[in-house]
Amino acid sequence: MDAEQLRENAHKMVDFIADYYKNIESFPVLSQVQPGYLQELLPGSAPNKPESLQDVLDDVQTKILPGVTHWQSPDYFAYFPSNSSIAGFLGEMLSAGINMVGFSWITSPAATELEIIILDWLAKLLKLPDNFLSTGQGGGVIQGTASEALLVVILAARDKVLRRVGNDAIGKLVAYASDQTHSSMQKACKIAGIHPENCKLLKTDKSTEYALSPELLSEAISHDIAIGLIPFFLCGTVGTTSSTAVDPLVALGRITKSNGMWFHVDAAYAGSACICPEYRHYIDGIEEADSFNMNAHKWFLTNFDCSALWVKDRNALIQSLSTNPEFLKNKASEANMVVDYKDWQIPLGRRFRSLKLWMVLRLYGLENLQSYIRNHIELAKHFEELISQEPRFQVVAPRKFSLVCFCLLPPHDKEDCANKLNDDLLHAANSTGKLFISHTVLSGKYTLRFAVGAPLTEKRHVNEAWKVLQDKATALLQTF
Ligand code: PLP
Repeated sequence: MDAEQLRENAHKMVDFIADYYKNIESFPVLSQVQPGYLQELLPGSAPNKPESLQDVLDDVQTKILPGVTHWQSPDYFAYFPSNSSIAGFLGEMLSAGINMVGFSWITSPAATELEIIILDWLAKLLKLPDNFLSTGQGGGVIQGTASEALLVVILAARDKVLRRVGNDAIGKLVAYASDQTHSSMQKACKIAGIHPENCKLLKTDKSTEYALSPELLSEAISHDIAIGLIPFFLCGTVGTTSSTAVDPLVALGRITKSNGMWFHVDAAYAGSACICPEYRHYIDGIEEADSFNMNAHKWFLTNFDCSALWVKDRNALIQSLSTNPEFLKNKASEANMVVDYKDWQIPLGRRFRSLKLWMVLRLYGLENLQSYIRNHIELAKHFEELISQEPRFQVVAPRKFSLVCFCLLPPHDKEDCANKLNDDLLHAANSTGKLFISHTVLSGKYTLRFAVGAPLTEKRHVNEAWKVLQDKATALLQTF
């Protein structure tokens, strides 16, 4: 690593990235390439001799960017956002520059200590109860994704109950969630060795706005106990992936507490909104949870990956995940004076991810972050109003944050074609490259999702996307 060479090349790369952002609106937001396109464009083996950075950048421009779906485009309204920002980018850059591997405190004390401090800062912004802070028995840790966060808490919860009932009872353990819970729940149960039939996804419908019914949960738990099973885990969601439903944490927390279960709250997307006083009520009841997760890399201006997980009992995680090989032993760890984050996660190695979250919090400050969230929610409200004013369309689930679920209504005599019509509309709109939306199914109904949350999105982008949707709807209805 020659410092002057780094300076020269990194300047070129920053220029390239700045130009990318300058021109981002000119790309089709959803990549329009066909599967296998890159195989045709790149050689079959690596070069023997070094090539120039300029040659690589030329290839990026002509061969890679056409195959990129532009998540940072202001016309991106699909899935949930995955934010980038100048602060987040600079933090990533610094982390890549220092490139340490902070699995134990000793391997880079600043990495561990900054992570502890910054997750306490963020916990305070979210007004999490004090027992999630590092000053008590709990604390926060940065995981790569919400899926990993859920997996590590399921492992901790599983081992906690098995210590009580014996390892042989693993086949009797039951985990619950609603049928709107992210698929990472089923994956985590699979990895944790929970019997597939004992990962119970309880049915939701329009009557609870797709939130988990506490009555249904109580009934399921009573039934399972009666047949000799052992309920041990509940995942509640604040802001479900399909429609941003919010599970009733207070009532669910009471049930889990009285049954000695671990209660995890997944607020991967909507957690960010809870830094605004007017949205904080969505996590009322978090006092009863054992763990809480939000993805700073979704809607909090922090470049991927950065998923914040807090637990009330850090020892439960450590008991499940700690290893202590001779080659990692050191005085600080042996004396129990430090946090070794390797014992709070699946891998050993870990990056200096707290740097980017620290930069985001310092360079923007709470007030700007709140305005950022509020602006997206206003834009989603605006889109919802546009839909409501157009009789051919319908909003199909209540909007709570920055996601609008909607559909195009079929002609009266073709109601059974509604799903096909909306699927056609999605593909017609996305293939223009002018916007990118996604879909879900709610109560058997194909539903379009319009999620505002890309940092560059302005009102004009929402209006333009709406215009494309209207035009495509007109064309489709003529042929239907
Ligand atoms: N939970 C919810 C509510 C989500 O919406 C998502 C993804 O969108 C996830 C979990 C999974 O996120 P990750 O990719 O960080 O694992």
